[in-house]
Amino acid sequence: MIRVTIWYEYAQEIGVLKREMVPGMSDKDFEFFSDFVKSRVERIKEVYPKGLIGTLSEALEKDPEFRITLTNIYEKDYGLPDELLENTDVLVWWSHVLQDAVPDSLAMKIVKRVQKGMGFVALHSAHKSKPFMYLLGTSGTLKWREDDFCRVWTVNPAHPIAQGIPEMIELQEEEMYGEPFDVPKPDDNIFISWYRGGEVFRSGCTWTRGYGKIFYFQPGHETSPNYHNPYIQKIIGQGIHWAAPTVYRENFDCPNILTSPESLCK
Ligand code: ZN
Repeated sequence: MIRVTIWYEYAQEIGVLKREMVPGMSDKDFEFFSDFVKSRVERIKEVYPKGLIGTLSEALEKDPEFRITLTNIYEKDYGLPDELLENTDVLVWWSHVLQDAVPDSLAMKIVKRVQKGMGFVALHSAHKSKPFMYLLGTSGTLKWREDDFCRVWTVNPAHPIAQGIPEMIELQEEEMYGEPFDVPKPDDNIFISWYRGGEVFRSGCTWTRGYGKIFYFQPGHETSPNYHNPYIQKIIGQGIHWAAPTVYRENFDCPNILTSPESLCK
């Protein structure tokens, strides 16, 4: 059994940005992002009547090995109280407009837990999430443009995450993410995406930190229907299996691995 916690932002799905969640945000930005989440909510509902993450988790729940907990930033302790984090084998993370609302202290608790063995699966715009940046020590920046045609190429077919996935998946609509992607050289690059604009992107990559395994996977824009795609669901499910801990080292401490937001390359 793998205890999977799926953490997601929720603001876009309900179309409401709560002021108390973003105390550091300027009034101008708050107004901008409030309008932004409001403007998306109907379109997201159209594409995902059960919600973006509701759709994904419904697919993942079919795996008898997964015991899934859904949580979001509006719940207690930003959705991840210590007890839940400590009882998570693989943390799946989807975030976007509220990346900065996650406290550094929580992001660092996640880093520590990954170093001890917890798996971390970062989806789509989580490339700019604090846990992902602090784990890798890089900014996670990339190029982007909404709504492009995409081909996801399997470039490492021997990898466990690629089993049963065809050589190429066509996605009629996905947000373009383009190189350069500011991350450390991956241990494995499993998928590369190509877009009609000519851009390419390392869309499926893995790393390890301490005893923990990290998988990043790009498809999953909130207004593109790709979490309905059985291959995308399968890749994420296999990513969770791959990232599941083989061993925990509760007393493991990694003084030489990045452990503070200050040491992040901005
Ligand atoms: Zn997106």
